Amino acid sequence: TSDVLAGFGTTIFEVMSKLAIEHKAINLGQGFPDEDGPADIRAVAARTVDDGPNQYPPMMGVPELRQAVAEHDARFYGISVNWQSDVLVTSGATEALAASMLGLINPGDEVVLFEPLYDCYLPMIKLAGGIPKFVRLDPPNWEIDEGKLRAAFSDRTKLILMNSPMNPTGKVFSREELELIADLVIKHDAYAICDEVYEHIIFGDKKHISLLTLPGMGERTARIASAGKTFSLTGWKVGYLTATAELTARIAKAHQFLTFTTAPNLQKAVAYGLAKDDIFYRDLKKSMQSKRDFFRDGLNGIGFATADCDGTYFINADISSIGFTGTDEEFCRLITTEAGVAAVPVSAFYQSDGARKNFARFCFCKRPEVLKAAIDKLRDFF
Ligand code: PMP
Ligand code: GLN
Repeated sequence: TSDVLAGFGTTIFEVMSKLAIEHKAINLGQGFPDEDGPADIRAVAARTVDDGPNQYPPMMGVPELRQAVAEHDARFYGISVNWQSDVLVTSGATEALAASMLGLINPGDEVVLFEPLYDCYLPMIKLAGGIPKFVRLDPPNWEIDEGKLRAAFSDRTKLILMNSPMNPTGKVFSREELELIADLVIKHDAYAICDEVYEHIIFGDKKHISLLTLPGMGERTARIASAGKTFSLTGWKVGYLTATAELTARIAKAHQFLTFTTAPNLQKAVAYGLAKDDIFYRDLKKSMQSKRDFFRDGLNGIGFATADCDGTYFINADISSIGFTGTDEEFCRLITTEAGVAAVPVSAFYQSDGARKNFARFCFCKRPEVLKAAIDKLRDFF
């Protein structure tokens, strides 16, 4: 193993999913829906396998999908995107993130990151030779401490990597917070890589604002999204990135040596999906929000306090609020093996010292009867 990767264990999602399978637990750990996304989108993928093309698509992505991403970004964010130069299709958001880190970071460059952080961010930054600068957010409000954020930037900052709506917190960054980030990125002549895979999974009156749309940020921001989340097809691994031609080219330089391209039938199907009408996008939100409401009310009914959740697939429960005195890791193992419900410890998403160990992340993008069964099991156990 390389020295960098030797410092990392198996990802927490894999660890908890394995334990869930072993104990036949309802898996509310790893984030994935238990119902596949639209049949018509899947039909386009199937048809394209039969009819072709099935050979290497262009490195930047099939034209239909790049056009669809440009149209999607104009429709939802009011930005004008040149599909030929400003869009890159990748093998999932994960590859877009890796290509961004490898394409932009030089050894010794600093990267600003919010904790809790999604599991692949840190290894990618380290593989690229970057030095992480963490800014910790704490439950239940996940507020940014402006002083700490300012202090994380320096003249060695190459980029900030951020995620809104944010996994695992469910936080949706406000315009004021994004303005502060934009101000710092511009002042330090840095880039912003924005993981926006949950852009359409957002609740109540919250609105997703892309940092890319803020004044002065268009030329220094790459926005990354994923068909996996928008179409409830997480196994497809079709991601897409929007940035200026110059920034896209830098990132594509790494992409060409990582995967070069991704499956043409899935790209065509996602192109079809992105053009879906407003009702599709509205129903996705509505359905996810009702799952969140049901599951949150269920947790609260058992006595768990829950942290704010304005988007994503995830809600965090305060395990100390029911008198559990062990760590979040102990709690998640206990409920997986004894109550038959798996969750993920939130402390697994922190690297720096001082993280609280009393929150468990539950994934609620499941069928209503599954959520009900999980709540019943937890209620019976506690
Ligand atoms: N970023 C975040 C915040 C995620 O939660 C996920 C998916 N679970 C990804 C990236 C990865 O997306 P993809 O499956 O498209 O690679
Ligand atoms: N994004 C999913 C989660 O946060 C898991 C993806 C994965 O297993 N790598 O649970």
